[in-house]
Amino acid sequence: MSARVLIVEDNPANLELMDYLLSASGYLTLKASDGKTGLLAAENTIPDLVVCDIQMPVMNGYELAKSLKNNAKLRHIPLVAVTALAMTGDGDKILAAGFDGYLVKPITPETFVQQLEAYLTPGQHEKGGIAYGDDSNR
Ligand code: MN
Repeated sequence: MSARVLIVEDNPANLELMDYLLSASGYLTLKASDGKTGLLAAENTIPDLVVCDIQMPVMNGYELAKSLKNNAKLRHIPLVAVTALAMTGDGDKILAAGFDGYLVKPITPETFVQQLEAYLTPGQHEKGGIAYGDDSNR
């Protein structure tokens, strides 16, 4: 069964890009455009991974991280920030907020899915039947 990835991002273009890349790699995606909607989606679906923007309306990424990590049913889900904040110290702030890791925007389409897979346990990797290093399907 494909791993389910919840993408929480208020920028439609970024949301669609991440959705496309994950879907094309065989993952099932769930989408939310603010932290509060993302939290509800996480509660309802218990996804295998949450990818989350930091700056969002209604509930930002830090608040979402706090809510997820304070919830006994949700705290085990790997939580990865995708953020344009690249100034010194933001990485530490993101990790201190409860995120398991972060990727810096703009994302690199060629490596995005692979970077996220580092946060999934091996059994959850969905390679869509295409072996890594196999050029025949590209
Ligand atoms: Mn944003």
